[in-house]
Amino acid sequence: MALNWFKKKKAKTDSTEIPSEVQGTPDTPSSEAASPPVADTHATDGGDGPDDAPPDQEKTPEPPAKEKGVGLFARLKSGLSKTRSILTTDIDDLFLGKKIVDDDMLEALEERLITADMGVQTTMQIMERIARRRSRIGGVGELKSALKEEILSYFEALPDPVPMAVTKPHVVMVVGVNGVGKTTTIGKLAAHESRKGRKVLVAAADTFRAAAIEQIAVWAERAGADIVRHKDHADPAAVAFDGIDAAISRGSDVVFVDTAGRLHTKVNLMAEIKKIQRTLAKRLPDAPHEVLLVLDATTGQNALSQAKMFDASLGITGIALTKLDGTAKGGIVVSICSSLNIPLKYIGVGEGVEDLQVFDPQTFVEALL
Ligand code: GDP
Ligand code: MG
Repeated sequence: MALNWFKKKKAKTDSTEIPSEVQGTPDTPSSEAASPPVADTHATDGGDGPDDAPPDQEKTPEPPAKEKGVGLFARLKSGLSKTRSILTTDIDDLFLGKKIVDDDMLEALEERLITADMGVQTTMQIMERIARRRSRIGGVGELKSALKEEILSYFEALPDPVPMAVTKPHVVMVVGVNGVGKTTTIGKLAAHESRKGRKVLVAAADTFRAAAIEQIAVWAERAGADIVRHKDHADPAAVAFDGIDAAISRGSDVVFVDTAGRLHTKVNLMAEIKKIQRTLAKRLPDAPHEVLLVLDATTGQNALSQAKMFDASLGITGIALTKLDGTAKGGIVVSICSSLNIPLKYIGVGEGVEDLQVFDPQTFVEALL
């Protein structure tokens, strides 16, 4: 098969797909390099000190009441509308007046998959598989079904996620670079677990800025969760230790440990998070039971390099992919699931407390294509 588009673009894409700043090891001495280019957060504030941080707690949004009635599927579908229009409309166009899959169509489809953020490697794999079965694909409906099957096969190959709250307390350490949505995701998860009748405790171990502690405190209060907090710039590992201590004595079911996403260098950040991880295990063997990595879908392929970096240092057990409601392209979900052997547990589709969904491959594929 031709794969011409890929060949033409390969040199260009190779140099941009995985930014060298976050390639390979976590010891890259750049704190800003891996921060995602999110326009709406403190991630782009350009400095590291407490003074330049906007008061995050003011940004913690109330659940958007008007959207509460909208079905989860509709929320996901509207979030993925951009990708849908790249994939579905164009796939329909590809088949106008044709009954068989020819090389031109495969090439055009390949370009659509890359544009939808599926990544070069994943796109090539999918295209090879589609090309192999092309003689049995007789129209646009069948092409979409074949694509759905190929995408689903990636999700099915992933390991099972760690189940929530099997042990008590069940400790979830939440990590990720600055601004990806760690604190917001904890807030949503805390509310969800509380509603299920579980006793939740949050450890405010992002002590880098006072505003970060206030932000998680607002979410904890709203969720009816306990919080363990120290002063800003306190040792995050000490907060984590006290959090587990309190959870054991109070009989909490679930503990969420919020962590910082930015320190002065990446080396410092990884060292700090590793120390938190070790300290959790000192107080409670087997803790943390889950290391949940939060990735921002709008950062595209950069999310993949972040995942590799955190996984190498900490051993990630699950991923939460946020901001699928925004400018993100849904193909990144496929790219992440095909490139990493880590289950995608949750997707974030908005800033409100209801805007977190347990990732369901079938629903996702139906919303995508
Ligand atoms: P952290 O630095 O990783 O803790 O990130 P925050 O939780 O503070 O979130 C950064 C910004 O992203 C905040 O403005 C959040 O409201 C926003 N955010 C988080 N998750 C989502 C999501 O799923 N969709 C959208 N649109 N915004 C989100
Ligand atoms: Mg935070």
